[in-house]
Amino acid sequence: FDVEIAGHMPQAMAIKNDGERALIAQIHMDRYMLPSEYPLIVDTAEGSRITDIDGNSYIDLSSGFGPHILGYRPKPVVDAVEEAVRKGAVNAIGNRAELELASIIAEAFGGDRNVVFTNSGTESVLTASRIARAFTGKDVVGKFEGHYHGWSDQGMVSSWFRYSGDPKEPTPVSNSAGAQRGVVENTLVFQYGADYSLERIRRHAATLAAVVIEPMPSMNLDYDPEFLRKLRQVCDECGVVLIFDEVVSGFRVTYGGVQTLAGVEPDLTCLGKIVGGGLPGGAVVGSGRVMQSARTTNDPFEDFATRAFCGGTTSGNSVSTAAGAAVLTYLRDNPAVYSELDAKTDYLREALQKIADEEEVGAQVRGKHTVFSIGFEYSKPALARDQAAGSHVKAMLALAYYMRLNGVYLPELHTIMLGDAHSYEDLDLVAAAFRKSIREMKQQ
Ligand code: PMP
Repeated sequence: FDVEIAGHMPQAMAIKNDGERALIAQIHMDRYMLPSEYPLIVDTAEGSRITDIDGNSYIDLSSGFGPHILGYRPKPVVDAVEEAVRKGAVNAIGNRAELELASIIAEAFGGDRNVVFTNSGTESVLTASRIARAFTGKDVVGKFEGHYHGWSDQGMVSSWFRYSGDPKEPTPVSNSAGAQRGVVENTLVFQYGADYSLERIRRHAATLAAVVIEPMPSMNLDYDPEFLRKLRQVCDECGVVLIFDEVVSGFRVTYGGVQTLAGVEPDLTCLGKIVGGGLPGGAVVGSGRVMQSARTTNDPFEDFATRAFCGGTTSGNSVSTAAGAAVLTYLRDNPAVYSELDAKTDYLREALQKIADEEEVGAQVRGKHTVFSIGFEYSKPALARDQAAGSHVKAMLALAYYMRLNGVYLPELHTIMLGDAHSYEDLDLVAAAFRKSIREMKQQ
């Protein structure tokens, strides 16, 4: 039978039975209380398009929050996954695909590199933080206001829309109920690009194990090579491990990451999304010097006392790593993908900004490389916390709602990412949908 999930939606969602309805309700309970209150349930995905269980097709601008840089269902990945499953999915034992992916990642970041596999970006940051604490013998982790490092208790401290205290010395606040208070309080919060943050790192050198940073923050979508260089220097001076969270930017901004473009080498790099090839996967890659703290000695009693334990049943499983290796191999062998993606994204950004200006809605299209966002009613905020103004967020949600009605899936409150499968024709359709959506929003 048909159930209309939200009264104002033109389409009713076909739900076949009570079991399916309960499942969908459970999965989407908290995720979709967004403007449409209408869960988008995908049935199939191909290239740049997703099709829902009612048969509605949308141009997808989410890339699944980032992994699908080659679009959905790319042949090299489908072939690699099929082969991996046919050969027997292996986990918790070393396997060939894992070795292949580890060497591709190590080579991409150059030099003396070791790799530890995880199942997600969140786990990569947790793992890197633990390695840093083991390496330094110190306990506190520092992060930057507005930067998201996954859903862990520490990863969500002062990440998105909740900030507190003096911007120069923010009070750590959790963006999630239920986060352990001790973990939240044991986090130092800094501001990206500010020299006073570097001074603060110096003052806390005795207890600070690591500083984790999104070198190109999702909140700002720009990077500051000079600040990253100074941060590198201060961390060296203070014996603090520098961790770059390149979960989004890794293999998306270029083959490598922001560090490749900025010429600043962190001690540890957190990866996820693209290196999982669209399946659950992630990795920490780092210099042998620091990664030594995660290495086993073949003496379990010694290990459990001194090394940073890293691992999980499915970390480095042969299917995810085969998918990741297929994507990275394709990107490595076809470097033109990056210049084409940059050109396509510039084309779309310019078209959207032109429409926003013509329609006089005060929207800004911001971003670099293949990542961008559309914001409302601000010029260039000085601090990440200034972007959290209510009207701006509500307009973003409304835009996502109208774009969906006009055949484009815009991820609500997340950056937009293009993939190799987007054609210029797709981008023209997105621009037309944007103009229509803006006009419909203005009529409300
Ligand atoms: N770090 C950054 C910068 C992210 O954007 C994300 C997810 N969007 C994560 C970490 C967490 O990755 P995951 O969702 O795979 O756990």
